Amino acid sequence: MIAATKSEMKRPTLVIVIPCYNEQEVLPLTAPMFLEKLTSLIGAGKIADDSRILFVNDGSKDGTWDIIKRLAAQDAHYAGIAQSRNRGHQNAVLAGLMEVREKCDVTISIDCDGQDDINAMDAMLDAYADGCEIVYGVRSKRDTDTFFKRATAEGYYKLLNRMGVEVVFNHADYRLVSARALKAFADFREVNLFLRGMFPLVGFKSTSVYYERKERLAGESHYTLSKMLLLAFDGITSLSIKPIRLITAFGLIVMALSAVGILWAVIMAIIGHTVSGWASLICLICFFGGSTLSAIGVVGEYVGKAYIETKARPRYIISERTDGDEER
Ligand code: UDP
Ligand code: MG
Repeated sequence: MIAATKSEMKRPTLVIVIPCYNEQEVLPLTAPMFLEKLTSLIGAGKIADDSRILFVNDGSKDGTWDIIKRLAAQDAHYAGIAQSRNRGHQNAVLAGLMEVREKCDVTISIDCDGQDDINAMDAMLDAYADGCEIVYGVRSKRDTDTFFKRATAEGYYKLLNRMGVEVVFNHADYRLVSARALKAFADFREVNLFLRGMFPLVGFKSTSVYYERKERLAGESHYTLSKMLLLAFDGITSLSIKPIRLITAFGLIVMALSAVGILWAVIMAIIGHTVSGWASLICLICFFGGSTLSAIGVVGEYVGKAYIETKARPRYIISERTDGDEER
């Protein structure tokens, strides 16, 4: 059988999945930009006419959902789903992807604040046409981030890799995923989500596309330092058990050192050189008190995660759809 050439290939139906949480300031600016991009891709023959933009309202407390409903009423290319409450960025992206995975050929997830360059979608779709099932959007520069954010973020990617978590350096959640890869991804049932570390586990042919990350067009970032640290810690403990291994290794080293210490203490006692030794005792007690507690904490973190996972609660609950279909 002769393989179909690219032009003969059916144009894929694309859905752009956009999580939105309290974005009433930026959405009216970026929504038309996304639509323009979608129509130009349709015009260029890269995607099918029934391609869509799907906004996922993540329990916003402002007018975001009203804006999404209005957009959907204005243009059939826009659609929206609402989560029953705020569940966080990762759950919102997952809800959108799972919603559309059987209704399209390919998806692209992107933030709604205009930071990710929509023009990288062309290269992503080209890579898809070349047979890639997952295409990672990678920031080529981080000039718009503060020095602190840049340094911590890049250090974090390196740490993740050391911990055995496979992540694409400087890739966040701007990515193309085919329906085929999503079908496989649907079997990843974990509740603790760290999508950028999970997609590489799906496999399939993948590649990266580079773009320059811009400033937010309006509104403010939802990622405070504490939220970022939480996501960072979650990323490691969701995908790697290396911290537990490190504790074990630490314990073994301390055991070996203790053997020497014990030997030394016994010899000293035999030859009658035993002194009061208050300072060294206090130091040892403090050190081992602290390290034992933090080790229990790390192990506890995994026990807690296992507990949450065994409950297998739903990862998202959709309460409304702009197409009015609530039972699906
Ligand atoms: N977001 C979300 N739920 C949340 C927080 C954020 O859906 O609880 C969305 C937000 O609307 C945006 C994306 O996730 O589209 C990234 O958030 P943000 O721009 O605040 O993060 P940053 O780019 O500063 O890392
Ligand atoms: Mg942003």
